[in-house]
Amino acid sequence: MDVHCSSCGEPWDVYHLRHDAIFETDLDRAEAEVWRSLSPKERLSSRYREKFQAAGYQFGASILDVMHCPACPKDAEPDPVKAAIKAGIVELLGDDEDGIAATLEDFGL
Ligand SMILES: [Zn+2]
Repeated sequence: MDVHCSSCGEPWDVYHLRHDAIFETDLDRAEAEVWRSLSPKERLSSRYREKFQAAGYQFGASILDVMHCPACPKDAEPDPVKAAIKAGIVELLGDDEDGIAATLEDFGL
């Protein structure tokens, strides 16, 4: 399943975001492994958001809501309509990442 970046439309594999993207940050391997066992909210604490941002990723309230990604052209901004729809879906489904992934894919978001 793929979700798309709100800024550039790049497709991102859901598995990659949930399990592998963390290894693109400068966290050491042990800490990245710990991250994978955290709850969806803990995985987006400010510390991890900073690490992801340094690697080119910005997320909304879910790791599956890609606002900005490493493929984005410089100065790319999130599409406000897509960003709002995605935020609503994430709010509705909460920590149900499988549900979020399926819904975003259904809408091509
Ligand atoms: Zn992008």
